[in-house]
Amino acid sequence: MSDRPPLYYFDNNATTCIAPAVLEIMLPFLEENWGNPSSAYSFGHEVGRHLDRARQQVAALIQVEPREIIFTSCGTESNNTAIASALATRPDRRHIVTTAVEHSATLKFCASLEKQGYQVTLLPVNHEGALDLRELERSLRPDTALVSIMWANNETGMLFPVREIAALCRSKGVLCHTDAVQVAGKIRIEAKELGVDFLSLSGHKLHAPKGVGLLYVKRHTKFQPYLIGGGQERGRRGGTENVASIVAFGRAAELAIEHLETTSGRVRALRDQLEAGILRRISGTSRNGPAEPRLPNTTNIAFRGVEAEGILMLLDQAGICASSGSACTTGSLDPSHVLTAMGCTAARARSSVRFSLGAYNTAAEVEYVLDRLPAIIEKLRANAPLEEPVAN
Ligand code: PLP
Repeated sequence: MSDRPPLYYFDNNATTCIAPAVLEIMLPFLEENWGNPSSAYSFGHEVGRHLDRARQQVAALIQVEPREIIFTSCGTESNNTAIASALATRPDRRHIVTTAVEHSATLKFCASLEKQGYQVTLLPVNHEGALDLRELERSLRPDTALVSIMWANNETGMLFPVREIAALCRSKGVLCHTDAVQVAGKIRIEAKELGVDFLSLSGHKLHAPKGVGLLYVKRHTKFQPYLIGGGQERGRRGGTENVASIVAFGRAAELAIEHLETTSGRVRALRDQLEAGILRRISGTSRNGPAEPRLPNTTNIAFRGVEAEGILMLLDQAGICASSGSACTTGSLDPSHVLTAMGCTAARARSSVRFSLGAYNTAAEVEYVLDRLPAIIEKLRANAPLEEPVAN
């Protein structure tokens, strides 16, 4: 038994707990079924059969064919692979289009490509985090290899119109990748129907363990492996498969399909209860980003006159996990690049906290946060008001 005090976990966009049914199914692959799925004997083959099943399960989650799935180590690898493949298979095209609000798994990879001589267009967003699709269209050039666009923003939950963007790309002969890492288990994914060429997911955002992800590559799309080695994943990703985690990912995908409607409805109601409660009970608060279109689990709130760092510290003391959505370096919080791109002042960005709910949150937990938070904000405002006023 753990003697850890109760945890009020509101950071499901960062990672999720492993579902009990998922843990149960993966454990035998760490204990007795530890064979290499590529081995010629039946002890290995047997493991290979479980990999096939997991591939079918994750393919069902995103409505594609199992052979269109490549298992990877994480969402970051999937994003890097899609972008690198688009460039490698179209060497005459050296331009990529993405947005200013992507995850660093895309942004930093693109920045490293720029250093190698590729050109990157970072599309801006408006104050709600939305893209101007005419600007996107204008950014496409004869040498554009790929548009890489996140489906849901990890900080605000804002959804981009990926279907329209994929259609636009298709009409211009440009490949389209979507980072759907934050979407899995929250809204329905029909990748084939969505019309994208590549789609990334990560297991640990959907109650599977860390260290497993997938890349969907639409059939007949030219593909260049990123990890080169053994012939695993039909020659598309070298490296012995992380079998236990892949099997777990498959089961998590199955559970996500089974519970999608009920879970996302329940989570949305809790998120709305939390958001409305904060906005009503605490003065000088406002939401970052639009009410819709948005993930059902995410709310990002600015608290006028207080640093998120202080809020998160006092929340932590109360056992509540939330996040500022920005990287914490040397003890000071950089203002979030997402909120900054949306036109927030640095002070507002630094006073913003993301709460991201999940399947295991309860109404009592939401009430607990709503009970604690007003006093936390009051205390911080009394002690250390920000000098710069924060516009709502
Ligand atoms: N893309 C988005 C939108 C994310 O939120 C994350 C993780 O937070 C990633 C990519 C990276 O996924 P992973 O942690 O599996 O590398």
